[in-house]
This record gives sequence, structure tokens and C-alpha cells, in this order.
Amino acid sequence: MRSIMLCFPLFIIFLLTSCSLRNGENEFRAFIDQHLKTIEPKLKAFNLASWNANATGDKKYYDEKAALDLEVRTIYSNKKEFEQLKKWKESEEIKDALLQRQLIIIYNKYLINQFDAALMRKIVEKATAIENKFNVFRPLLEGKEVDDNEIVNILKTETNSAKRQKAWEASKEVGIAVAADVIELAKLRNQAAQQLGFKNYYEMSLIASEQSLEEITAIFEELKQLTDEPFGKLKSEIDTKLAKKYGIKAEQMMPWHYEDRFFQEAPRVGTIDLDKYFKGKKIDELAATFYRKLGLPVESILKNSDIYGRKGKYQHAFCDDMDRLGDVRTMQSVVDNKYWMSTMLHELGHGVYSLNVRRDLPFYLRIEAHAFLTEAIAMMMERQADNADWLQAMVGLNAEEYETVRAEGQENLRMHALLFCRWTQVMMRFEKAMYENPDQDLNRLWWSLVKEYQMVTPPEGRNAPDWAAKIHLALYPAYYHNYQLGELTASQLQYYLAKNILKQEGAKEVCLANRPEVGQYLKEKVLAPGASLRWDALIKEATGEPLTARYFAEEYAK
Ligand SMILES: [Zn+2]
Repeated sequence: MRSIMLCFPLFIIFLLTSCSLRNGENEFRAFIDQHLKTIEPKLKAFNLASWNANATGDKKYYDEKAALDLEVRTIYSNKKEFEQLKKWKESEEIKDALLQRQLIIIYNKYLINQFDAALMRKIVEKATAIENKFNVFRPLLEGKEVDDNEIVNILKTETNSAKRQKAWEASKEVGIAVAADVIELAKLRNQAAQQLGFKNYYEMSLIASEQSLEEITAIFEELKQLTDEPFGKLKSEIDTKLAKKYGIKAEQMMPWHYEDRFFQEAPRVGTIDLDKYFKGKKIDELAATFYRKLGLPVESILKNSDIYGRKGKYQHAFCDDMDRLGDVRTMQSVVDNKYWMSTMLHELGHGVYSLNVRRDLPFYLRIEAHAFLTEAIAMMMERQADNADWLQAMVGLNAEEYETVRAEGQENLRMHALLFCRWTQVMMRFEKAMYENPDQDLNRLWWSLVKEYQMVTPPEGRNAPDWAAKIHLALYPAYYHNYQLGELTASQLQYYLAKNILKQEGAKEVCLANRPEVGQYLKEKVLAPGASLRWDALIKEATGEPLTARYFAEEYAK
């Protein structure tokens, strides 16, 4: 009798809890259904307007795109719904794994749109004003207005140090024009983040994209240590070679002596012109053959795509998933050369990711696990265009040239990877510090980072906002580190493929031509799960270990 009495309330409590759990999940399910009815068509319409804007340059599509962007933001800025999402998140009522993943993703979308509307408007206006300044700004060089291409050309060909210095300084002028605005924008973004209880905008952005400052800093630290020595060696080789070209001593090398104005790209080495192998070939058909034999066909993407250049059209390349239901498209301005072969492989890498996410997942999970993961697949595919075996299989290399192409391709990839990974250190660390304290001496901070990570000598006595000349700091905030994470992931996947799928010695020269088993693995382990797994869980699941810089270093820093 007593025991029944005691059990009874416990039973009721159990029943009530399980009921309210179920209720929480049911309510959340109903919320998603309702929410998708409004958001899904808007996102699709936005993608279409954006596609049309890029395809035609027509103002009417840009206006349509801006209007839809505002409508989408308005949905995500709904305070009542955000409070409800927050309650679900804090209550831990949502136990189902897929519902949990959706809750986190939807919550984050609402979170970053919860700023006060007036502040949001100020941020958008400030960013637009900066973008405009970047677009119209033309520095003076010897009394004449010059554009980007002219500066790039001088830094590529000029051997007179004084002339190089002038061109380099001209390339930094835009920094002076926008610096005060960029600082102000950083402060506005910080205000917004602080309204939501975060320390600063950088921290908030990382958290809202399911990353954390500790994770990112730790991996960048690991990468720094692994590349300190090999980068130092490469840097002194580059200095020696370039100094000789300019008739100076290696110690006299200054920032303007490098081909790239930020020293973020290596000059290409090569005695063999790879372009000739693509002359007269259909780049899209070559790519289609490669991907088909990889078991990841792209015909349905190419059918919807806009491949060749024309007047008024966007000049670079991108790939878009229009509806998360198979309408994946790429826009390019293909020419029959090596550059566009690499670009095509890259964009279709994004494409096959979108196309192969499990179609039966809910809308919010029918997307890549993280932006840097789709970047990783794209980068891995792009690297193929520098692989001698891939070129041999796809375009038939001249037998005499094979060994040279092999050595040069490897060297180009290595130089690019090593230089770029030190540059991303500067960007990540600068951006983090700028949002932590926008009032510090940013000019000095920039050059101290450039000196430490890129080992470039700061010009004596220079006190100018050279950092502000990098457009990403203003317009694509808290994102740059993802390019590097993409590179690291590409190397980790490649290492796994070499060892476990291709069963080859070493991961340096992984050729993916005619390897359907690779496509099978990628599809199953990396692409299909979409965002049903968080990025870190997905990488661990796919490669057996957490994301590390080790394989990138193995590939390029040894
Ligand atoms: Zn990309």
C-alpha cells in the first residue's frame, strides 16, 4: 500500500515530463512547418533574383534581390519567435537529434538578426558606403589615376625598386580613404553583438556559425608551429631569387618587392605552359567526364548553368544551390585555359556537395555542414588541375614533359599553400584583435603581425592603415579563417583517401581521375549527411580524427 502511494506521484511526474517533452518537440515541429511555408519560397526567390542579377547586370534584379533580402531578415528578426526558440533551446525539451540540429541552426539565424532595427540599418548603410568607396576609388600614380589591373601589372613586371614602391603605396591609398569608416563599422557591429550579450562581434559571429574562438585559435596556433620553419625557408628562397632580379641584397627586400601586394599569393613557377593542353578543348565537358568517372555526375548542374562570358555578366565564378532540391547551378566565364579548368573543378566541387546532400533531410539540414567544408571539397578538386597524373588522364600530357609538369605542379601547390597559410594567420589574428579593441593602434598591430607571420620587413616609420586596404575586413567580416580551415580539411580528406581508399604511399600526389571509389566515399561520409552533423563531428566521423593542421603540413611543409 505504502509503496503504491509512493510510486504514484513519481509515475505522474514521469508521465507529465514525458508529455511535456513530446509537447515541446511537437510544438517545435509545428513551428518549423509554419516557418518553412514563408521562408522557403522567399529564399528560393532570393537565389533566383541573385542569379539573374549576376547573369544580366540588370538593376531590376538587384532591386528585387535587395527587397527579398530585407523580407528574409524581417522574418528572422521576429522577437516573439526568437524568444520561443530560446525557450526551446534552454528547456532541453528537444531530444530528437535532427530536431536539435534544426533548432541550433534556426536559432542562430534568428540570433544574428535580433539587433535593434535602427542599428541594423546603420550597419548596412556603413558597409554599403565602404563598398562604394572601394568600387570607385582610383589612386594617383605619378599624377595619373590608376586601377587595380595597372598596379597588379607593375608589381608583376617592374624591376625598378622606386617605381615598385610607388605602385605599392598607391595600392594602399584606398586604406586611408576607408579606415575611419571601417573602424566605425567595427564599433557598430560590436554594439550589436553586445546588445545580445556577447563580448564583441567576432566572438558572436563565430558562435553563430558553430565555431568558437578557442577552437579556431588552437588550430591556427598548431598551423603556425608546423609551418614556422618551412615557411621561413621558402621565404628566404623567394627573397634571394627576387632580390637578384631587382639587383638588391636579400636583406633589402621590402613589401613592394613581392608580386602580390599583400604577399598572399606566390608567383607561379613553370617552364611548361599548361594552357596549351586546354586550347580548343571544352572545359565543361572535360570536367563532366572527370566527375562522371568519379561517380559524382554533374550533367544536371551544367544543364542549368551559365558557362560562357558575355557583356554585362558577372566576371568571376560561383556555384549556387537554388532550392536544396537539385537545382544547382554555376556561373562562369570560361575560356579554354588552365585557370578556368581549375575554376571549373572548384565550382563543381561546391556543386556536387549540394547535389549529394540527402534529399530526405529537413530543409535546414539539406545544406553543407559548414561553409568551410564545401570550400574543402572545392579546393581538393581544384588541386587536381596541378596534378600531373590527372592531366595525363584527362588531357594526355606529352611524355617528355610529364616529369617537369609533375615537379612544377607540386611546387606551385606547395608555394601557394605555404604563403597563403601565413597570410591567413595575419588576417585571422588582426580581425580578432580589431573587434576586441577597435581603438588600439591598428596600424602598428597590422605591421607587427605581418612581420611575425609573413616575415616581411615593415617599411621604416610607416604609419598608415594598410590593413584597411583589404576589402574582406570591412565587407566579409569574421569569415577569412574559413578559407584556411577549408585547406586543412582538404588535406586531411586527401590523406584519408590516399591511405584508406586509394591505398597509396604518401598523400602528396593524389590523383582522383577514374576513381569511383573516392566518389562513393565522399558521397557517403562527407556529402550525404548535410548539416545533420555538426562540422567537427562530421570530420571525425569521415576521417577518424578531429580537424588538425597536421596533414596540411605533411603535404606542403615537409
Ligand atoms: Zn569556393
